[in-house]
Amino acid sequence: MIWRTTTMPTAFVTHADCLKHEMGAHHPERPARLSAISDQLIASGLESYLTKFEAPLATDEALARVHPLDYVKAIREVAPNRGTVHLDPDTAMNPHTLNAALRAAGAAVMGVDLVLSGKFSSSFAAVRPPGHHACRARPMGFCIFNNVAVAARHAVHAHGLERVAIIDFDVHHGNGTEDIFENDPHVLMASTFQHPFYPYSGTEDPARNMVNVPLRAGAGSKEFRAAVRDAWLPALEGFKPELVLFSAGFDAHAEDDMAMLRLADADYGWVTEQVKAVADRYAKGRMVSMLEGGYSLSALARSVVQHVRVLAGLNA
Ligand SMILES: [Zn+2]
Repeated sequence: MIWRTTTMPTAFVTHADCLKHEMGAHHPERPARLSAISDQLIASGLESYLTKFEAPLATDEALARVHPLDYVKAIREVAPNRGTVHLDPDTAMNPHTLNAALRAAGAAVMGVDLVLSGKFSSSFAAVRPPGHHACRARPMGFCIFNNVAVAARHAVHAHGLERVAIIDFDVHHGNGTEDIFENDPHVLMASTFQHPFYPYSGTEDPARNMVNVPLRAGAGSKEFRAAVRDAWLPALEGFKPELVLFSAGFDAHAEDDMAMLRLADADYGWVTEQVKAVADRYAKGRMVSMLEGGYSLSALARSVVQHVRVLAGLNA
């Protein structure tokens, strides 16, 4: 295998609106997650290799490829002018949430456009709210719009791609993404997740385009890497994606007490290298990554650095 060190820069897409979305003083999905990531990118020296972009607001056209317009309209209507509105027990909107959610989905569109323009080989979006629990017409688990799904549909419908892979290594199963893409021939989704665990999906008769590998509580690097090698990589080789998207959640880290998997910082670099080799072979190296979970600020920030370092084609 020949390792290509990319000379094209990596895009870093974010927006200040994503820092203003808050769901309560003690909510784990909090603005400090994004600050921790930017601080660590600076401290590691990686920031100087990234080109920063401000995420646009997603258009109804981009959202409607994933969510019924009635759902988008309902979210716009329920958005409060002051105070907090709960969409489910875990998911709330403050007056800034609507714009944050539109920026997060807009970052997905922008990442795809930047990478498919040929000017960037990869893109990482540091945005919130996350997206992979958002179903076609239902917010869920901190998520309002399914950002990675918006990216995939944009790549297929606006750019004419035939095959897009979604890699989801968040500790929770991406039930929303599965809801949106089950049996969609343009998409292959490969995921690992703790099971049995929230949202208790992904194991009952998954569709053929879903490569779901449940991992037991306590599983760590060894089990995760075996899942990637034995299940993900053969499926990706068969699918030959033209673009690779990541639902990049970092809550399977051993230091993250949201769940009970035990990944280490290095696993995030390793899995990105494995997937990058596939992207280099079939997708001209094109990768677009969207932040999902990750609630231990230090582990989150260090793991993002490992992931983005490999996206950017840099050695350790
Ligand atoms: Zn998660």
